Amino acid sequence: MTIFVDMDEVLANTYERHIELYNEEFDQDLKLEDIAYGEVWQNVPEAHQKSVHKHAKTKGFYLDLVPKKDSISVMKALYEKYEVYIATAATQFPYSLYEKSVWLEKHFPFIEWQHQIMCGHKFILRGDLLIDDRTYNLNKFVGDTYLFNAKHNLKEQNHKRVYSWLEIAERLL
Ligand SMILES: [Mg+2]
Repeated sequence: MTIFVDMDEVLANTYERHIELYNEEFDQDLKLEDIAYGEVWQNVPEAHQKSVHKHAKTKGFYLDLVPKKDSISVMKALYEKYEVYIATAATQFPYSLYEKSVWLEKHFPFIEWQHQIMCGHKFILRGDLLIDDRTYNLNKFVGDTYLFNAKHNLKEQNHKRVYSWLEIAERLL
C-alpha cells in the first residue's frame, strides 16, 4: 500500500504558527479555541489580513512549525509497514521547498529524500491513500482519502475525517 502524507496542518501545526505570529505582530491574544471556523486570516480584522497572508512567504516560517501530536511515532510505524511518501505543495512559496526538507530532517529523519515529494498539484500522484487537510487535493485523488480535521475544513463532508494521528494509527496499524 502506498500512502501520501501532506505536511501543513497534517504533520505540522501551521495554523497555530499563524496565530502566534499574528499575536506577536499586533499584540493580540487570539487562541485556537476562539476560532470556530475558517482560515486564520479570515478570523482577524480586515486591516491585519494582508499580514497573515504574508506569513507563508516569509523566510523561516516553515522551520519553526511544531509537529502535530503523535505524528512522529505514528509516521515511524507507518513508514516501516507501508510505502509512505510525503506529498507537500512546496513550490508555491519560495522558501518552503528548502525549509520543509530541513524540517523533515529535524523531526522525521527516518523519511528518506526519495520519499519526499515536494510538488505543486497532487492529482498527478498515483497511490492508495492520501492524507490531507485540503479537499481540493483529496477530491482529485484516485484512491482512498483521509481528511485531517482542521478549522478550515469543518464543513466538508465528502471524505473520511480523521481527528488525530492516534486515530490514523488505529485505522492503519
Ligand atoms: Mg495541508
